[in-house]
Amino acid sequence: MKKRKKKPVQTTLRCPYCGRTARLRPAAYVYGDDTLDADSFLYVCDGYPDSCDAYVGAHKKSLLPKGTLADSELRHKRILAHRALDALWKQGYMTRHSTYIWLQTRLCLREKDMHIGMFSDYYCGQTIRECEEFMKWHKESRKGGKCA
Ligand SMILES: [Zn+2]
Repeated sequence: MKKRKKKPVQTTLRCPYCGRTARLRPAAYVYGDDTLDADSFLYVCDGYPDSCDAYVGAHKKSLLPKGTLADSELRHKRILAHRALDALWKQGYMTRHSTYIWLQTRLCLREKDMHIGMFSDYYCGQTIRECEEFMKWHKESRKGGKCA
């Protein structure tokens, strides 16, 4: 791990969908005043909600973005990819750590790019496919052996 130089928190990003500025805003800006996430922040595109619906969560302490801005479709895809990946270690096929190493190898990603919050639509799709294939392979190889 490289040491990260201390620098002031960057509170604006560029929206990759429309090119507008995305600013750090309280979660209530998107989720409404009754959100349970009242103390969290998001980077929200200036076009939100009229012409663009891209945003991304910020880490609670550092306020750094958790990934790249995503529109509703990509946000949904990232949730599905996360769920597929989590299932592998939650069901005990691998440890959480080795699940991430496994996916990183399967997708030929560098360690620093192995964050679902940064995944494009393509990588989300690949993640889901790899996880499904792994499960399928595992079930089939189990079928071949005798149940203890
Ligand atoms: Zn935008």
